[in-house]
Amino acid sequence: MTPQPNPQAGAAVKAADRAHVFHSWSAQELIDPLAVAGAEGSYFWDYEGKRYLDFTSGLVFTNIGYQHPKVVAAIQEQAATLSTFAPAFAVEARSEAARLIAERTPGDLDKIFFTNGGAEAVENATRMARLHTGRPKVLSAYRSYHGATSTAINLTGDPRRWPNDLGAAGVVHFWAPFLYRSPFHSDSEGQECERALQHLEDTIAFEGPATIAAVILETIPGTAGIMTPPPGYLAGVREICDRYGIVFVLDEVMAGFGRTGKWFAADHYEVTPDLMTFAKGVNSGYVPLGGVAISGAIAETFARRPYPGGLTYSGHPLACAAAVATINVMEEEGVVGQAAAIGERVLGPGLRELAERHPSVGEVRGTGAFWALELVKDRETREPLVPYNASGEANAPMAAFGAAAKARGLWPFINMNRTHVVPPCNITEAEAKEGLAALDEALSVADEHTV
Ligand code: PLP
Repeated sequence: MTPQPNPQAGAAVKAADRAHVFHSWSAQELIDPLAVAGAEGSYFWDYEGKRYLDFTSGLVFTNIGYQHPKVVAAIQEQAATLSTFAPAFAVEARSEAARLIAERTPGDLDKIFFTNGGAEAVENATRMARLHTGRPKVLSAYRSYHGATSTAINLTGDPRRWPNDLGAAGVVHFWAPFLYRSPFHSDSEGQECERALQHLEDTIAFEGPATIAAVILETIPGTAGIMTPPPGYLAGVREICDRYGIVFVLDEVMAGFGRTGKWFAADHYEVTPDLMTFAKGVNSGYVPLGGVAISGAIAETFARRPYPGGLTYSGHPLACAAAVATINVMEEEGVVGQAAAIGERVLGPGLRELAERHPSVGEVRGTGAFWALELVKDRETREPLVPYNASGEANAPMAAFGAAAKARGLWPFINMNRTHVVPPCNITEAEAKEGLAALDEALSVADEHTV
């Protein structure tokens, strides 16, 4: 579709937004949201007719791009036949979505509890773990994001927790491995892995193993920097959890459904958690949906004892029909393989090549359609381009980088001193190269802020 300029309509959308929409994570008077007129595939456009290549997949959810005709048609068809129905009933779209998801999740994660998104999935996974074990505490990592509801924001290991932190009962943070900014001062992946596992063991010992219900980790932490764990780390955590009877929860809300070039990031490490949370890519974000995939043992806990949790819209037919269509499209079009291939052939080599030429790039890491560039002032000291949690003037170098990318028709994902390259998993080679060329020019602006 060719975007048709209609600035007057855009101005009306913007005016109503500014008057009445209260935006997430924002100082309401300091933001200037772009009025979006439409989207298709890997692109969206504004009312001026300016098109942007979306290197963010929305909030890392449009894994098959915008407006896929088969998913749009499935939602329309579901709306025409049964647009809503309460969760206590067996409904075709819901049971089919659960079957398709359970068939793809690892091991015996065969029962699906549906939510409206990721945070609710995390809330329910921790609730299930606590009830299953009868223990109160949950361990989660610094440099993590698990959502913005009460337990989820407290589990989160980034600054968004701070203003929300009322000392949530039983949440304990630990350090997960991250060699580039190693909390353990390691100098190799092997050492980082070993020290991180020892640190987790020590944390468990000092917290009291019999008080710990769950360890929750993002398989590959996303928002906090796409930090692929060293080989052996997740298998080591699995072993520690087994030894102490602790439930192992993997949060695949961002990394799941093809994003990393496999159905789930856990598939790269051949690790099966006891509970796995998902959302976003499950239906490419077309209708809100998330959930928890549950192991046989935990499902058994609630076989004859009611599970004390539920949501009015759990397994909403429109959302589930979108999931069924999305998963079928992913199979038919080989989207998981496309994500793996674009990472191997274009994004990985292209980003590494940019890193060679741009002094502002400290590290490139990722896999599939899931990459991060760590932007630094100084490659030697690894001092970030902007300080941790910078805002206002202190954040000016990242703001300049972002503006430069947008001016060149690329919508970048920016978090602190990083830009993440997280386009739709089915982005074409030509589109990916177009994005890399724009990124190249924007990085020259970031370079001006290096020493
Ligand atoms: N968990 C992870 C790993 C996430 O990346 C997110 C969102 O980005 C969430 C949970 C929260 O999901 P939602 O915003 O749908 O509640």
